[in-house]
Amino acid sequence: MRQKVVIANWKMNYDFHETTSFIRNFLKIVFERKINHNKKIIISPSFPFLHISNQILQGTTLNIAAQNIHHKDKGSYTGEVSAYMLKSIGVQNVILGHSERREFFFEKENILLEKIKIALKYNFNIIFCVGESSLERSNNKQFDIVKTQLKETVFHCTSDEVKSFYIAYEPIWAIGTGETATIEQAQTMHEFIRSLFFDKYGKNISDKVSILYGGSINDLNAKNLFSQKDIDGGLVGKSSLELEKLLKIIQS
Ligand code: PEP
Repeated sequence: MRQKVVIANWKMNYDFHETTSFIRNFLKIVFERKINHNKKIIISPSFPFLHISNQILQGTTLNIAAQNIHHKDKGSYTGEVSAYMLKSIGVQNVILGHSERREFFFEKENILLEKIKIALKYNFNIIFCVGESSLERSNNKQFDIVKTQLKETVFHCTSDEVKSFYIAYEPIWAIGTGETATIEQAQTMHEFIRSLFFDKYGKNISDKVSILYGGSINDLNAKNLFSQKDIDGGLVGKSSLELEKLLKIIQS
């Protein structure tokens, strides 16, 4: 069975106190309500709070992820943070290729591939995001776009390396907009992505790769989305900032 995964992407939101008290409350409720743990739960706070978050989560089955890394491991890159550094504080997961990184920080496939290589060098698991804009979808280009995004990045990896990936399908028009992809749009794209993994790496890997949906998931739509056969969980932005909503999404 494929791993079910929920990732809370907090983006540039919570400060130190908000981050630590959220995680402490979250843990308390997860244990009190005996929320089952057979899914992977990953919380992704901002860089300054990764260390303390990791310390709070020690001894639990919950994990943290960085929201980005630089594409080199060391050097004169003022203001940047590397996989080498994050590894030293116990971070094991990183989100790469998020559409906000692509849009606001001009990250293109060639840089993303370098980031992937560095992340793999330090044994990170990679949550790799793909997805089309609304214009691309209205021109029926969504499948070409996603295929190219994967072909120029993830598909440069060996079948051994690709086991370290979760793929997040995040249609850009659904991120932070309140507009979710329909169940059919999401399932069709997830099935397509799985077929690309099949063509490139074969059945064993395509059966196992977890493909997450992201884009305005909330406590009301999560269950329907997650019940689709190729949707293995979610990458959640806004709704992950509210404790009860996040818990409901995890229970979905
Ligand atoms: C995201 O940014 O990864 C995301 C899915 O955001 P939201 O849930 O707010 O649409």
